[in-house]
Amino acid sequence: MKVLKFGGTSVASAPIIRKVEKIVTSAARQEKVILVTSAISKCTDTLIKIGTEAGEGNSSYKAQVYSLRCIHHRIIEELLEGSACTEAIKECDATFDELERFADGICAAGAITPGEADAIQTFGELFSTRIIARKLAADGYRVLWIDSRELIRTEDGKVRFDLTDPAIRSTLEAHPDVDIFVAPGFIASDLQGRRVHLGRGGSDYSAAIYAAASRARIVEIWTDVPGIMTSDPKVIPAATTIPYLSYRAARDMAEFGAKVLYPPTVIPAQRAGIPICILNTYDPEAQGSFILDNPPHRASGLLGLTALKGEALANVAPDVEKPALKAAEGDVVLVLVGTGEEDGAEVEARMVRALARAGIKAKGTASTGYNVFAVVSAEDKRDAMLAIHRRFFESKPIRTINCFLAGYGAVAQAFIEMIATSGDTIAERTGKRIRIVGVSSSRKYILNTDGIRPEDIATVLPYGHPAEGGAFFDAIGTLSLKDAVLLDCTNSESIGARYEEFFRRGLNVVSCNRRAFAVPYARYAAMKSTAHDYGLALKYDTTVGTALPILESISGSAYSGDEITAIEAVVSCTLNNIITSYDGANTEPLGTLLKQAQDIGLTEKDPRADLGGRDALRKLLILAREAGVPLEESDVEITPMLGPEFFDCPIEEFYRLLAEYEPKFIAREAELDDLGMRQRFVASIQKDPSARLGYKAEIKMQLVGMDSPFFWISGTENIVIIRSAFSAPLVIRGAGEGARMAASGVLNNILSL
Ligand code: ADP
Ligand code: ASP
Ligand code: MG
Repeated sequence: MKVLKFGGTSVASAPIIRKVEKIVTSAARQEKVILVTSAISKCTDTLIKIGTEAGEGNSSYKAQVYSLRCIHHRIIEELLEGSACTEAIKECDATFDELERFADGICAAGAITPGEADAIQTFGELFSTRIIARKLAADGYRVLWIDSRELIRTEDGKVRFDLTDPAIRSTLEAHPDVDIFVAPGFIASDLQGRRVHLGRGGSDYSAAIYAAASRARIVEIWTDVPGIMTSDPKVIPAATTIPYLSYRAARDMAEFGAKVLYPPTVIPAQRAGIPICILNTYDPEAQGSFILDNPPHRASGLLGLTALKGEALANVAPDVEKPALKAAEGDVVLVLVGTGEEDGAEVEARMVRALARAGIKAKGTASTGYNVFAVVSAEDKRDAMLAIHRRFFESKPIRTINCFLAGYGAVAQAFIEMIATSGDTIAERTGKRIRIVGVSSSRKYILNTDGIRPEDIATVLPYGHPAEGGAFFDAIGTLSLKDAVLLDCTNSESIGARYEEFFRRGLNVVSCNRRAFAVPYARYAAMKSTAHDYGLALKYDTTVGTALPILESISGSAYSGDEITAIEAVVSCTLNNIITSYDGANTEPLGTLLKQAQDIGLTEKDPRADLGGRDALRKLLILAREAGVPLEESDVEITPMLGPEFFDCPIEEFYRLLAEYEPKFIAREAELDDLGMRQRFVASIQKDPSARLGYKAEIKMQLVGMDSPFFWISGTENIVIIRSAFSAPLVIRGAGEGARMAASGVLNNILSL
């Protein structure tokens, strides 16, 4: 035995009823069939209106009855011919006459009772099922119309299965020669024999009741969509069919708003262990949704998204797990129905993020063992559903960027940590996943083209291959990976010398290795043009001012035709840190400050590289070249803050000299404080027609007053002023150091590939 149920849209016209007949009769060739149908689409709504208008004494109900009668006549005339047609019209009219008398009675009484309001709705299924039964009979099938009002009995709105099941069974058994039983859905009678119904959408329930009583093999619910979908396709066009659901999940979807299934339907089916299949009348071959006991495992523990009015949450069946959520009137509760495998708190957070990205504030969230809930305002419902559905059910293709990481210092480690903790969020937000496929320290390297878990790198790297003599880069050269980037977090000029080779091998290069760029201009230009020729990227924004948008601002103005007239930069973190700590009050001796800076990795290995202005020089070369000025080292006039004797000696001697120099430095700072001035170590290029390139380049200590933005920086802050012909000076100021900053800077560069 098999039960097939067709909804209102599946019986709304003669052509669609012919489709139904095809589906039903082909099933009946295999086994006995119970066909349950709804009233034709909108019929129940019209009947409710007829009752209301009659109760109000509004005679327009007569016109409604008339047009409903005509719609049914038309279907009959299109389906049947000759005497079959005449008989069917006669039968249909008899029921319509009864409806009209019923409505007249209500009108005469001047009010409709609750019992009458229920009873008037039960006519629709009588009309539709009788027509279909006659059509099947006319086509020669062995059919019997059975009256659900005599079989399905209710008490206080609940089905009395103890009476219903035997009644159905004995009726079926009494007619062994019938192949297709046709039964009206939705309708029943109570213990007093009064006409009642099972609730709006209740024909699905009728089907399950017939199935359980007849111990059917399966219940098929045929409707106008291809199954239970990830969301209502009328709201979410991208919704897809959920192939398998457990009884519980199907019940949850239904209870929380998926109208495609009337929630109680699941109960008798589950009790009798009968699977439910939801199918599309308009596409009978499609697989549909199966509801069964142990559905096959799915990749994700989330099945679908539903919505219901805040106030309706209270009416969800008491045995369905629901959260204690506050929803004001006019709020909507969005529900992600799951299998219980997902971490509810995490899904809540993802839901809130997805909503926030759509500019919608979640008014509250909660989760139970299986489902996750979010409250939003009614006016946000549609956008909120679209955003959540997109996030959870419309997997966009995620592009993988393969990353070879050279150098395993503080920046590289911060970068790895970021990928470990935020890789998923980044992929979600940008559609790009960074896969680390190789890491090299100065001593060891590891490679795996399938990816290396960032969490494992620290443990695995010491056991890698020897990295001496550029072995890591030689090994990369033998691989051919699409969408790959070499991330240079080293401090080595010799790796910079290999960039062009990397481009020829198809690698993009992202670098925070300043030394790679402080090379003769010809080499610098060659690197850039090779990258360009191969259609690859060379990004090095972090080499000046770490994550500050300095280089992009300069190249932006350089290319927009607004000539840059000067760049003034205070970009040496070490010096800034030391010098600004003397602003107003002197804290520690110079030597101590410098050693501290060295200890926290702020300075070059020999801190004098910073004091001598070499670091500032590299940055100035990059800044100038970015502005289109092919500056060479020899163009820059450097005045170190200390004399040559500090540099031409061993480091211990240097620290001794520094201690000696300390009182002079303090005296100078005190003097400046009195004058309201400060000294800053400034690297600059300035338009000057007499200079070789038309720009004068200098690195030296400068005195600045309060009117200069340089006066106000503190700690390791960096600051750059870009002056141009047409715009007001652009001042970029902000944190200029830190491994995390640098890591997020290179990460941004990689994500921009
Ligand atoms: P029938 O008349 O066949 O019983 P219903 O109108 O009761 O059909 O139910 C089908 C409708 O349910 C679909 O047209 C669709 O708009 C709506 N619906 C709501 N949520 C879902 C969902 N998650 N999956 C499929 N359909 C849904
Ligand atoms: N005809 C009824 C209704 O419109 C029952 C059903 O369609 O399932 O609610
Ligand atoms: Mg329905």
